[in-house]
Amino acid sequence: MIDNDEFREWGHKFVDWIADYYQTVDQYPVKSQARPGEILRSIPATLPETSESMASIWSDFQSNIMPGMTHWQHPGFMAYFPANTSFPSILAEMLTAGLGAQCMIWDTSPAAAELEERMMQWLGQLLGIPATWSGTIQSTASEATLSAILSARERVTDFAVNDRGLQGHPHLRIYASKQIHSSIEKAVKIAGLGKENFVAIPTDSDFAMDLEQLEEAILRDQNGGNVPTCIIVGLGTTGSTAVDPLKQIVALAQKHQIWVHIDAAYAGTAMMLQEYRHMIEGIELADSFVVNPHKWMMVNFDCSCYFVKDKSALVRTFEILPEYLKTDADQQVNNYRDWGIPLGRRFRALKLWFVMRNFGADQIRQTIRNHITWAQEIADEIRHHKDFELLAPVPFNLICFRFAPSGMNHQELNRLNQAIVERIKSSESLYVTHTVLSGIYTIRLVAGQTYMKRENLQFAWAFIQKLAKEVYQEPLPS
Ligand code: PLP
Repeated sequence: MIDNDEFREWGHKFVDWIADYYQTVDQYPVKSQARPGEILRSIPATLPETSESMASIWSDFQSNIMPGMTHWQHPGFMAYFPANTSFPSILAEMLTAGLGAQCMIWDTSPAAAELEERMMQWLGQLLGIPATWSGTIQSTASEATLSAILSARERVTDFAVNDRGLQGHPHLRIYASKQIHSSIEKAVKIAGLGKENFVAIPTDSDFAMDLEQLEEAILRDQNGGNVPTCIIVGLGTTGSTAVDPLKQIVALAQKHQIWVHIDAAYAGTAMMLQEYRHMIEGIELADSFVVNPHKWMMVNFDCSCYFVKDKSALVRTFEILPEYLKTDADQQVNNYRDWGIPLGRRFRALKLWFVMRNFGADQIRQTIRNHITWAQEIADEIRHHKDFELLAPVPFNLICFRFAPSGMNHQELNRLNQAIVERIKSSESLYVTHTVLSGIYTIRLVAGQTYMKRENLQFAWAFIQKLAKEVYQEPLPS
């Protein structure tokens, strides 16, 4: 195994390599073109019995691993939602790995606990979260949403399910729009509520939750002896970044005493811009909110920030106090092991601190505003193009559209656009993905990469038009 001196030497080399990588990342094929099983076959089936040199591991990293990497930090990465990073965030992650601390309780690293407390306050200020709310960093929005559903389950049963399980309870019902992310249904299953108790509410023509249908579903459940437990509000859904009407939903939830959780995993970042704040009007009447700085706020994966109005409901849901974890400080500090599912915790607040200080609120806002402005410019061109059409509103920087030359029917257009997306994916210079909206195969293009510039987006749009024309000339795949 390498010693301290060799670690220093390799560490310098790797930092140089990472710096070079960012200077040349646009020259890599943005999406890995590896075939299934190709990388697996290149790695020996058994581990080495004796030490291998760092030089040989490094050489294999370049020849075996790099071809199987998709380059999420490539300026042509416009697929899914981004998983952004940035130099201050990478540096902080190096320190986190170097310190190797396990920050489960305050005692195991007071700085980690207290920096997390302060960072949640900073982020809350930046996004307009009520100052009286508390926040904690979790690994993913899936975990945060599960925490919200578990807290809602406990609150509505007066913490009885934690003690005695769900037997004998009426069905606890969870509501969200049909466009909500799949992690919500998963959380309902994990929380033991049964996926039949996930009520998918139809959406309006903008893909936002239909309020009337929500109210009808709640009343139907109450009349049928079920218990409305939690409403998940989508603020920027995955398919099209639709925004559910929070203000009206919280008013309804108040009437029926239902927990409201806001899934703003992606678009929550935009709340730092005053012009978007109207989207969280009414938040003070909601119960919890999740945003992932690891998507669109230049912080390395993983960093999902979960805010709650009543931290005691959260802590009471998860609290467990074995003798070996008791400390003298317990009454004076936040022990984040009780604020979520895992006991063990990485020191994630450090990268948030580095990013918020080194960018400053100004530059973070400017980056987000640029992404939105540039995406809106392209959306406008698509809106006015005779052969392309927008398929959903573009409230942020996700554009949902298709190539729709005249004379083709619905099925043909779906096949044509699928072929275009496949062609883009194999192009090596651009990566977009798709969704289906109202039965229509939809190209999704997200302009949110940290180092993306306006010209990268203009290139993407020109490239898509060129590929679309080429694919259109060819026979349609069946
Ligand atoms: N919510 C929304 C709106 C998402 O887009 C996603 C993932 O893209 C999630 C939740 C789940 O995020 P995570 O991967 O952090 O669990």
